[in-house]
Amino acid sequence: MTEMRLDPLSGRWVVISSARAERPDAFVLHAERLEHEPLKPCPFCPGHEESAPPSLTIKGPDGSWKVRVIPNKYPAFEGDEPFVVENRGPVFTAGSAGGIHEVLILSPDHATAWSDLDDEQASLVMRALRDRLAEHAALPNLRYSQAIVNAGREAGASIEHPHGQLLGMSFVPRELAEEQARFARFTARCLLCTTIEAEESVGQRIVYADDDVVVICPYWSSVPYEMLVLPRAHGAHLHTSGDEVVDAVGRALRTALSSLESTIGDVAYNLVFHSAPYRMGEPFHWHVHVVPKATTRAGFEMGTGVAINIVPPEVAASDLAADLS
Ligand code: AMP
Ligand code: ZN
Ligand code: ZN
Repeated sequence: MTEMRLDPLSGRWVVISSARAERPDAFVLHAERLEHEPLKPCPFCPGHEESAPPSLTIKGPDGSWKVRVIPNKYPAFEGDEPFVVENRGPVFTAGSAGGIHEVLILSPDHATAWSDLDDEQASLVMRALRDRLAEHAALPNLRYSQAIVNAGREAGASIEHPHGQLLGMSFVPRELAEEQARFARFTARCLLCTTIEAEESVGQRIVYADDDVVVICPYWSSVPYEMLVLPRAHGAHLHTSGDEVVDAVGRALRTALSSLESTIGDVAYNLVFHSAPYRMGEPFHWHVHVVPKATTRAGFEMGTGVAINIVPPEVAASDLAADLS
């Protein structure tokens, strides 16, 4: 069976093609281990903290740190300049790269990934993330912050110690602007409140649900085992969400990622946190994309922007949910 499905968040079409999964090499399953040079200690491990002052430290009762946010040593965005565009020629347009770039260290333990966090640590991580975004929101030149986790080399990670990155930017990037436009065009109700309701009534693509969060394999999944983590409480901004909601999202991510690991193995993945731009807000419903790197994006996808997904989300969700029961 092959069919096309429309992603209402990005406006892109996806080809759902289960026949192609039968190719023997269709899956790249296991994440390549990231080796750091043995002589160089991991910069994110306790005892190897560098001199730059951390932006935020959460300490345990014994005084040792449990979660840390530090300035990125090699920042992509830096400084308090606003976004100013300069035309240097008919096709040479430049802009200033003011902003902030931070690393969020998920735990002092080098081997503890998000899938291993206990409830308390998952909540500390999510609150640290939220509180840093609230600080970013207060900076006059920042319009949006992209929070991400790259886990595994295929997902772009360069350091093995589990961490995320927070990139505060002086402009609203295209992907976000597109999602925002899609929410605005979906006039009946909130696009993602509607998604939660529709998925719960169909019941085919739900991986996990509790009182605060729903995790689905979206109908329009563009890669195998893609998930969308949706807080039930409608809110445009992650950085203004309450403890109960962010804690629940942290735990749901842990549950989703550990089920991913037991279903397809130690695969690389990205977490992408989408929240409304700081000075815009509604209509938007903040959410987290979980994007496993089980397959490689190839020429057709690059050329067309149309993804071919070889595992239908109905199959993915039932595999993932089975691992939780
Ligand atoms: P990733 O590339 O996703 O593994 O993220 C690691 C990030 O940490 C990169 O953006 C690096 O620029 C940054 N980084 C590497 N070494 C250090 C360090 N010693 N202190 C702070 N940030 C670092
Ligand atoms: Zn480490
Ligand atoms: Zn909503």
